[in-house]
Amino acid sequence: MSERPLTAMIDAAGPPDCAAYGRAGGWQGLRRALRDLTPEAVIAEVTDSRLRGRGGAGFGTGQKWSFVPRTPAGDQRKYLVANADEMEPGTFKDRILLEGNPLQLIEGMIVAGYAIQAGEGVIFLRGEYHLALDRLTRAIDEARAVGWLGRDIAGSGFDFDIHVHASGGRYICGEETALLTALEGSRAVPRSKPPFPQVGGLWGAPSVVNNVETLCNVPHILANGAAWFRALAIGPDGGTKLFGVSGRVKRPGAWELPMGTPLREIIEEHAGGMRDGYGLRALLPGGASTAFLDGGAIDIAMDYATVEKAGSRLGTGLAILLDDRTCPVGMLRNLEHFFAQESCGWCTPCRDGLPWVERLLDAIEEGRGEDGDLDLLAHHARMIGPMGRTFCAHAPGAIAPLSSGLNLFRAEFEAHLRLGRCPHRHAA
Ligand code: NAD
Repeated sequence: MSERPLTAMIDAAGPPDCAAYGRAGGWQGLRRALRDLTPEAVIAEVTDSRLRGRGGAGFGTGQKWSFVPRTPAGDQRKYLVANADEMEPGTFKDRILLEGNPLQLIEGMIVAGYAIQAGEGVIFLRGEYHLALDRLTRAIDEARAVGWLGRDIAGSGFDFDIHVHASGGRYICGEETALLTALEGSRAVPRSKPPFPQVGGLWGAPSVVNNVETLCNVPHILANGAAWFRALAIGPDGGTKLFGVSGRVKRPGAWELPMGTPLREIIEEHAGGMRDGYGLRALLPGGASTAFLDGGAIDIAMDYATVEKAGSRLGTGLAILLDDRTCPVGMLRNLEHFFAQESCGWCTPCRDGLPWVERLLDAIEEGRGEDGDLDLLAHHARMIGPMGRTFCAHAPGAIAPLSSGLNLFRAEFEAHLRLGRCPHRHAA
């Protein structure tokens, strides 16, 4: 039993085929689920494991599955969707799993499909993940050829098949309801929740949307048990996690580590620490849509509750570091440019508010800022940021780095206004 189950089979030789996957311990979780457990027992085991969604929000996986209505035996008009539309800036963890071991995801999807009694699985894949598309397609074909997909899987009476859908390429397609709308062939506009997809999802049928990393954990939980999974973690959440670091560190990358690993260990040991001549000013702990934490927060444990208590969110668990020689206003301008560009345009605060934010940041960074601009930015943040003013979390996610940045980098913002230029740019 590996202490790094998600990446144990990933190496430079390429992904294992079905036989190699089986020899290395694959298919055991699925065999146990189909042979020994009812769908309800599978959900109970996953709930007990404390697996929380790895897409960024951290919702309990077993709990999510439990919301799917029970239907009469044989009625499998339900869908299990793997969200592989990994587009959060700074996040590249699912790609490692998709390219490195696609059968692990496929096994996790079959188990999840069995738990909710779905007949069909869809992998909604980021459009640019060409290698992943190639490897997933091959793995699905092989799994189907040897009987792990299709009718009556392993003589269990359970039918399940998987298709891959390559995304058209917008960030909003990764939002679960926009993703479902895109799969139905319409413009990827998020839907108001409730109803949540578990009740009314793809084509109006009960559907579960789970992140790739979440699903990849599932075979291991079924094979080794919930208690084993909980014990992999240091903190209150179960399992391991792909943590990562980008920014001016010596070795940017991603590593599978126990959930709850101290941030300092991730940055200093695994990423090799800051590059010579650079200090850690601040960081986004879990992707672009999480709030900034001051560099002094480096001693927190990377679990959901601790990061939230520190004022941000664990998000995807891949941290973006801001060093002390890069302009925080410039970084925020880059981020808000991305969010403004990627708004789907459906909700007014998001569509109209984010370009205003971007224009204000442009002006401040370029030395055209005026008195009152910081108050105006804070006003926009209050108008756009709270959940519930828009259909989805795009605008609140976009505002998280801005609100926290306005507090944390106040002196830098004021210096831009006072000097009429970016102090970092001209100091270089
Ligand atoms: P959310 O909290 O609204 O939902 C998370 C999941 O829990 C969803 O599947 C939802 O259906 C379910 N859920 C939540 N409340 C529920 C309820 N009351 N009843 C039933 N089900 C419920 O978050 P979200 O908008 O899906 O995701 C936002 C997150 O996405 C952010 O945390 C961000 O970090 C992350 N994100 C990730 C990427 C990426 O590339 N991985 C990109 C952008 C954003």
